[in-house]
Amino acid sequence: GSRYVVVTGASSGLGLRCAADLARNGDHHVVMACRDFSKAERMAKEFGMPAGSYTVMHLDLGSLTSVREFVDAYKRKGYPIDALVCNAAVYLPTDPEPSFTADGYEASVGINHLGHFLLCHLLIDDIAKSKDPRVIIVGSVTGNTNTLAGQVPPLADLGDLRGLGAGLAGGANVMIDGGEYDGAKAYKDSKVCNMLTMREMHKRWHDSKGVTFGSLYPGCVAETNLFREKRAWFRWLFPRFQKYVTKGYVSQEEAGQRLAQVVSSPEAKKSGRYWSWNGEAKSFGEGSAGGSGGALFENEPSAEVTDDAKAEKLWDMSLKMTGLA
Ligand code: NDP
Repeated sequence: GSRYVVVTGASSGLGLRCAADLARNGDHHVVMACRDFSKAERMAKEFGMPAGSYTVMHLDLGSLTSVREFVDAYKRKGYPIDALVCNAAVYLPTDPEPSFTADGYEASVGINHLGHFLLCHLLIDDIAKSKDPRVIIVGSVTGNTNTLAGQVPPLADLGDLRGLGAGLAGGANVMIDGGEYDGAKAYKDSKVCNMLTMREMHKRWHDSKGVTFGSLYPGCVAETNLFREKRAWFRWLFPRFQKYVTKGYVSQEEAGQRLAQVVSSPEAKKSGRYWSWNGEAKSFGEGSAGGSGGALFENEPSAEVTDDAKAEKLWDMSLKMTGLA
């Protein structure tokens, strides 16, 4: 039968392209786990996903109740699950004031990390039943500070996790490290949490449950809605900067294919890896031919992402914050 793949945030950007790539390729059934049901349905049609190759289900990662309800609804359907793709994210760099999830946590870390953390825990034993079980978390350049884009301030820094320990509830505890609110940093911190979580899941669950865990940096997808908060000049300049200066640019289609590759291909079967692509992306758009397309390789994550003590501390705190412990 088909390989059942759950993709969070499949209504836009690279999640949508990944979902469409898998659905069109025939032997996958994609569950689009989205906060906006009708948008997801519209996008599935627009991107030519054949009827019967996908199911749209409601999931708002900004509410732990919604995460639990999604998992209950999924189990009631009796669907198997072969792969979970934690892709959804918010990026709020220009908000002067923080936003919060339904559970009262700063939104970037609440949605990008805690919502997915709970989702992984609630689904892991079902995923483990698959013949080729995988959990993929979309990472970011904040995981490799050896790139130019990874050096742009503010840098991710979880510090001693004092803000997280105090509940990310605002005031002095709105950021994981206890610093003042900075939306761009909160996003980067959340991505470091994603990668620490992937490594910790690998450590705890790979041998015992046989699941492949992976993270990836798909390249800079400069045209997604992630940058919707940015000004028009930035949205014009940024893709060009990425194309011609950092050479990290990748189209949404190609980034989606890279994500789909990590979900199903045999070359990405190794667990605990942080995947990246070498060489220039295929499609440069605007009449330019671009490179020949990148080749998959195992990237080196930054020191903070390989800090095992921090990963464990984050794990324990996240268990408490999501009501699992
Ligand atoms: P988009 O903004 O296009 O996509 C993000 C998706 O997340 C959207 O579908 C959005 O839903 C969904 N989402 C946001 N909040 C919630 C929520 N509370 N519950 C459920 N879904 C939610 O951005 P990208 O495609 O660029 O981002 C996808 C992933 O790629 C992210 O993890 C990001 O960190 C990562 N990434 C992106 C890079 C880039 O250069 N763009 C580089 C490296 C990593 P809706 O459609 O309703 O808005």
